[in-house]
Amino acid sequence: ELRAEIRAWSGPAALADGTPVQLLANVQDGAAARKASGSQAEGVGLFRTELCFLTAQTEPSVNEQARIYGEVFGAFPGKKVVVRTLDAGSDKPVPFANHEDEENPALGVRGIRLGWTNKGLIDRQLDAIAQAAEDNGVKDAWVMAPMVATVDEAFEFAAKCRERDLTPGIMVEVPAVAIMPHAFLKEVDFFSIGTNDLTQYTMAADRMSSNLATLTDPWQPAVLRLIQNTAAAGQEMGKPVGVCGEAAADPLLACILIGLGITSLSMATNAIPAVGVQLSKVTLEQCTEVADKVVASRNARDAKELAAELLG
Ligand code: PEP
Ligand code: MG
Repeated sequence: ELRAEIRAWSGPAALADGTPVQLLANVQDGAAARKASGSQAEGVGLFRTELCFLTAQTEPSVNEQARIYGEVFGAFPGKKVVVRTLDAGSDKPVPFANHEDEENPALGVRGIRLGWTNKGLIDRQLDAIAQAAEDNGVKDAWVMAPMVATVDEAFEFAAKCRERDLTPGIMVEVPAVAIMPHAFLKEVDFFSIGTNDLTQYTMAADRMSSNLATLTDPWQPAVLRLIQNTAAAGQEMGKPVGVCGEAAADPLLACILIGLGITSLSMATNAIPAVGVQLSKVTLEQCTEVADKVVASRNARDAKELAAELLG
């Protein structure tokens, strides 16, 4: 019966009390964006640009990059599209990014840190995103940097974006940001929490290791509390805080995230209907009440069980 309900769900997402919830798609190229635009997705919450270049031996020109990014803008005219600058390194090496051999690539030169060893790389990518936005009539292009760990990085990235009329944000995936979110949020216009890496770095557990699945679980109360701290800062400062990690695709966890004050959820396109159906069964008041209890759980299993009991 639930399956039939999920198949029939047409969006847009709203809670049982009518509160709208923005559900967005994670995409990696124009084809994925076009598929998402035929779904209930209201836009793109995470465009993983590094996935366009996993086999590129040389850096594509600004024009070529602009053409690629433009395909994603073009799939969602007038809608929100959040472009992430290259998150190359660790599990996603990009040949032209000149990665050095590292003992611990997940803790190495990846994401925004690539700018240290590849001068001009981020500037050229931002030029290309700005050009793609202009070519597609996008007035408010949201751009975010991955793996930001210091306020100075957020400040410098935001300045580069504003020079090009792009709306700057950062991903929250290093615990340093979630611990002191206000200082970072002063510099940028929005946050997007990457729960995959935030969990990996909070629990000190490799997200690629199936042996560590009990640790790399976003229901871990320590992770939920960092999300709570981050979302609360967003509410206080009136800036949007989305989630774009796998956690957003878990229907019960989606309710908890909304209860914590998260303003949008971005996920694999095919995960959207199940999340939409679950959200339609709960009110904001319920989500808030249950989220407060769930974050106080002593372990991930208790957190999940409590949420299922109170919301399922
Ligand atoms: C994340 O870390 O949760 C995230 C969304 O980014 P990626 O999975 O691409 O590292
Ligand atoms: Mg990440």
